[in-house]
Amino acid sequence: MIHRVIIIGSGPAGLTAAIYCARANLQPLVFEGKQPGGQLTITTDVENYPGFPDGVMGPQLMDLFRDQATRFGADCRFTEVTKTDLSERPFKIWAGDELFESESLIVSTGASARLLGLDSETKLMGHGVSACATCDGFFFKDKQVVVVGGGDSAMEEALFLTKFASKVSVVHRREELRASKIMQDRAMNNSKIEFVWNAVVEEIVGSEDEGVSGVTLKDTQSGGTREFKCEGVFLAIGHTPNTSLFSGHLKTDEKGYLATENGSTKTSVEGVFASGDVQDHVYRQAVTAAGTGCMAAIDAERFLESQS
Ligand code: NAP
Repeated sequence: MIHRVIIIGSGPAGLTAAIYCARANLQPLVFEGKQPGGQLTITTDVENYPGFPDGVMGPQLMDLFRDQATRFGADCRFTEVTKTDLSERPFKIWAGDELFESESLIVSTGASARLLGLDSETKLMGHGVSACATCDGFFFKDKQVVVVGGGDSAMEEALFLTKFASKVSVVHRREELRASKIMQDRAMNNSKIEFVWNAVVEEIVGSEDEGVSGVTLKDTQSGGTREFKCEGVFLAIGHTPNTSLFSGHLKTDEKGYLATENGSTKTSVEGVFASGDVQDHVYRQAVTAAGTGCMAAIDAERFLESQS
């Protein structure tokens, strides 16, 4: 069987594309990947998604997206795509040994948390080091933790962690935050949060059995290092687009995000469309991802019409 459209990814972009494709009677097949619902499933309150004046929990919002897509016939599978071949149509998409073919493809694979690249970070991940406060904050009751980063994510993580931790130290490499004013104000007005300016984490100290006992901080101005006591390290230093499935097939921009034609979701391969964080390093909001998911579905529908 050759599908009309396959969607890879299940965040706001992928599931919005699924809603639109399903309503256009294209019976989309959606591969939800290893994090069904995408990044919003590891956040708590979403306060800026229009239509929810009292806020909505991230996982609940994504369940609603999925319900809306399946209601119109989208086939959402909790399966991870392992390989693609976009060299000719129909496009080939593998999930393990199983091969799927499709006349068009919507890529909404999102982005993943960036890491510092330290050996100690990899070794202690899940043993005191985390890239998701919502997932792991609970384990740090009455403990002192460090949050690395100066953007909205870092502020959000730090604020969330104050519900559990006794003290949250935000370590930022400059002395000015990148975060929006409202998030900065919230963090700065929280008595449990302190800021460590002009510092980077050079090493995370601890063991898999005992967890984290501290970090080595390097002053970005003087170059000097010092030990800093903490029992947890949360990384919030941005994201990397999930494009490895398409390397060699789809062109990327200078930052590694999938390149799309101005004002559309068309990629460098005809019939392949990209939406959401995998192609957007500027806005990266749930609502903008949903918007581009809608665009991708409309672009795919027009492409399929032009082929028939
Ligand atoms: P971001 O805005 O790119 O911020 C990343 C932060 O990490 C920056 O402060 C950056 O420092 C720092 N950083 C990057 N690499 C580093 C490294 N190797 N070592 C130390 N520090 C490093 O990423 P984000 O905070 O994840 O936010 C992404 C987007 O999502 C933004 O558009 C944001 O507004 C949005 N967002 C919104 C909300 C909300 O509205 N509630 C919540 C979360 C995210 P520099 O500042 O020096 O570059």
